[in-house]
Amino acid sequence: MVSTTQIHNFSAGPCILPQSVMIEAAEAVRELDGSGLSLIEISHRSPAFVAIMEEAQANVRKLLNVPDRFEVLFLQGGASLGFLTTASNFMSTNGSLDYAITGTWSKKAFAEAKHVGPVHKITDGSELGFRSIPALPASSSADAVHITTNNTIFGTQYATDPATDKPLIGDMSSDIFSRSIDFDKYACVYAGAQKNMGPAGTVMYIFDPSLVAENELPLPSYLDLKLHASKDSMFNTPPVFAVYTSMLNLRWMLKNGGLEAVEQRNRAKAQTMYAEIDRNALFTGFAETDSRSVMNATFTAVDAAVEPAFKKMCAEACINGVNGHKSVGGYRASMYNALPLSSVEALVDVMRELERTHG
Ligand SMILES: *Cc1c(COP(=O)(O)O)cnc(C)c1O
Repeated sequence: MVSTTQIHNFSAGPCILPQSVMIEAAEAVRELDGSGLSLIEISHRSPAFVAIMEEAQANVRKLLNVPDRFEVLFLQGGASLGFLTTASNFMSTNGSLDYAITGTWSKKAFAEAKHVGPVHKITDGSELGFRSIPALPASSSADAVHITTNNTIFGTQYATDPATDKPLIGDMSSDIFSRSIDFDKYACVYAGAQKNMGPAGTVMYIFDPSLVAENELPLPSYLDLKLHASKDSMFNTPPVFAVYTSMLNLRWMLKNGGLEAVEQRNRAKAQTMYAEIDRNALFTGFAETDSRSVMNATFTAVDAAVEPAFKKMCAEACINGVNGHKSVGGYRASMYNALPLSSVEALVDVMRELERTHG
């Protein structure tokens, strides 16, 4: 049973999901819609599961207003396999790809793409300690430009889909469904489910088949996005639990005001959080103001001496998951779609109380 204790879950991923989604998902594992069978023991080719996959894809299209020319897929391998898959599909035989390096995940995407062919860094945020997002320069002769729209670890984000002269490939793992997407700029958007969409186990691709690169050799089957599209994400057994629970969460978003409402809630949370980081003399923000992420707020204590007290007070207030990533330290408040404003307010209260008692 889902816990009734109110934990404020700031986990960077796997993420918080709405309680009602958790309860429905748990129930479907016991029995799917009065069928006498569990979600995880029925054929993925049964009408019941085909309907679930179709609704998941339809909900994505509705929420994001996806143009008809794009395909929507739910596959396995996470965003990490997506690094290789996207490079394989959008780099032509004698072509290359450009990468905007804005954090840890874009460095990993770049490293994986080297297995496919020539790749170039067109920006490198490491020179600025990844505190800000450099503007995209005009690209070289590359087939496409890969960006990471939200940098989960450093807490930076493109304020809008960047202008570019080449089709974009966007890793949106940690900000998908947090705001609208200008699909005219993209060849492909992909996202591991477990930050803003559902449980770990599936990765979503939204891609334009007409922009898939020509290749002399056929791609290995599992990497071939057009093959997956021709089989409606059922080339092999899909991750049924992750797809079902993601579908429930997308349905929940549609019922609760759609993307606009999600975006408004996210802006309110981020404003509350950053206002306190800026106001409170004990803390300092990590990211440059104009590159701040709406999803992950990163900050540090000005004086390490207050850290044990802050840790204790967070624990007492049931605030969970605010430690920074091991590679950067400090703190990170991940405010994914399902996190309520009241949780941000609870964290802000603790920061104020810390200042009052230790400032
Ligand atoms: C978490 C994350 C990934 C890795 O996702 P997996 O599904 O675990 O492979 C990739 N990119 C970004 C931006 C992330 O936040």
